[in-house]
Amino acid sequence: MSARAALLKHFKLKNKLTNRCFSTTRPTNADFTHAVIGAGVVGLATARELAAREGTSTILLERHDAPGTETSSRNSEVIHAGLYYPATSLKTSLCIRGRNLLYDLCAQNNIPHLNTKKWIVAQTPTQWEACLEIHAHAQRLGDAPTRLVGREEAQQREPDVKADTGIIESETSGIVDSHSLMTYLQGDFEERGGDIAFKTRVTSVEAIDGGRGGYKITAVSDEDGSVTSFTAETLINSAGHGACAISNMLLPQERHFVPHYAKGTYFSYAASRPKTSVLVYPVTLPGTGGLGTHLTLDMGGRIRFGPDVEWVDSPDDLVPTAARLEQALPEIKAYLPGVDVDAIALDYCGIRPKLGRGGAVNEGKGFQDFIIREEEGLPGFINLLGIESPGLTSCLAIGEMVKGILYRLRASLNPTPNHGPIFLISNFIFAYGLLSSRTLKQWYGIDHQVSPREDLTKYGETAVREGKITRKQLDMLKRNESAHANAVENFPLLVAGVLFASLAGVPAQKVNAAALSYTIARVVYGGVYIFVDHPTWSWTRAWVWWWGNSSCFYLLWKAGELLC
Ligand SMILES: Cc1cc2nc3c(=O)[nH]c(=O)nc-3n(C[C@H](O)[C@H](O)[C@H](O)COP(=O)(O)OP(=O)(O)OC[C@H]3O[C@@H](n4cnc5c(N)ncnc54)[C@H](O)[C@@H]3O)c2cc1C
Repeated sequence: MSARAALLKHFKLKNKLTNRCFSTTRPTNADFTHAVIGAGVVGLATARELAAREGTSTILLERHDAPGTETSSRNSEVIHAGLYYPATSLKTSLCIRGRNLLYDLCAQNNIPHLNTKKWIVAQTPTQWEACLEIHAHAQRLGDAPTRLVGREEAQQREPDVKADTGIIESETSGIVDSHSLMTYLQGDFEERGGDIAFKTRVTSVEAIDGGRGGYKITAVSDEDGSVTSFTAETLINSAGHGACAISNMLLPQERHFVPHYAKGTYFSYAASRPKTSVLVYPVTLPGTGGLGTHLTLDMGGRIRFGPDVEWVDSPDDLVPTAARLEQALPEIKAYLPGVDVDAIALDYCGIRPKLGRGGAVNEGKGFQDFIIREEEGLPGFINLLGIESPGLTSCLAIGEMVKGILYRLRASLNPTPNHGPIFLISNFIFAYGLLSSRTLKQWYGIDHQVSPREDLTKYGETAVREGKITRKQLDMLKRNESAHANAVENFPLLVAGVLFASLAGVPAQKVNAAALSYTIARVVYGGVYIFVDHPTWSWTRAWVWWWGNSSCFYLLWKAGELLC
């Protein structure tokens, strides 16, 4: 039996091993082009993305007998908006991109999900300040809309929810049935030609020729204890709680990672009242390991509370304990005072794969971002470490990013560039150069270099009398001068708008859109001013003038909102 046939048989693979063309520069003759360790939601999404590449062969290795039985099935199933993390972090960019991709994927493939929205509630002035900071941060991010919810609206929509000092609503938050999502990802991965080897525990990985020759992976079958080794050109470590151990097999001692475990306990709720239709989160203060004991909903509309944060020593410490319920009750009662305490029961636990005991959210000391990178000195080895929340939301974007790293593509994660300077320069050239009447005056031969601003008053009438130009042309030249002067006078308003907005952190899309709108308005204004002399139609000039001004006012307004 050939080595390949042996692998097919050993792993009970469905798909044939295809010819591979991952890298033409370093042919390795490996058994697979890509090996992904860990069939959680992130491993599944990543393997599915890689399998889409023609001519590749991807194997997904999972120690359990089904996908996603660890952290991926022990979470809140919330589609996060991406509000909580530093603007430039992977957690923010991947969460926002992943959320958009996830909503689209779910809608297109009937994966149960719901855009429930989420309330972040504050009970004290300090908490409200923290809420407003989140709100301002969200405005700066651009694609994570939040709004303030007034008392009356809150009372009308969710009378059971208490928020003494205020509420902000995250409009893009929602929920997804994570099991349906994983079933879909698995099916689609296999459809694309990928293979999953269940009950296959990776016990060792070695770099062949420093990774240039690929990676040798040794795995033990949890079914019969047999050991198999095979090779892959690239290796993606998406092993969740096992990821540090895999990484440490390849990286030198000084680059080893130590896993930390932050357990979160969930509580079920059996009563039908009180009830909410939105997710409810207490505001998170800096340094917390999670997002607070919040209220989430499942696809059936049932409430569950949790998770809290408890540091534990093992990823297998998954039994909920009564003491946690005692601690959680005051937190829950703070935002849901009418809760029926007798209907709350211990449910299940999930454990966050942490790389330190720092906070999961907010800026500053202790914040730990996702680590997703090709490790230095090990080409083709991609580490995915610390993939805690919002890993479920980000899974599709993570897959995209891994593919981008491997194939040196730019994942579309980069924020939109601010084109403000380009608009300023082009408007300057337009106002001071293109609209200047000197070009036309030169054309008509009445341009005087000595005092060009006085050309028309001094020589205009003479030029008409001498037949150099007609009266109509003189009138047009006069209007051209006025349009030019107006454009120059108006230019500082654009400078102020773009400058203030950019410095205040107004999203680049908004700056670009407003500056483009101003530019169009100014071009139309110039055209109307110069070429339209009909008394009625010349009124359009005034409208267009206000259109341009409004674009700048909009930018100043947005800047003011963020600076206040
Ligand atoms: C309490 C809690 C609440 C959360 N809530 C949310 C939320 O609401 N929204 C959100 O977006 N995210 C949330 N998350 C985060 C999200 O659940 C995770 O980011 C995501 O599930 C991680 O998926 P994964 O595939 O990286 O890891 P996992 O699901 O842990 O998968 C890793 C897989 O690797 C396998 N494996 C490990 N070692 C080996 C080995 N040696 N050989 C073979 N296989 C191996 C494991 O068996 C496992 O199946 C939450 C997490 C927790 C803990």
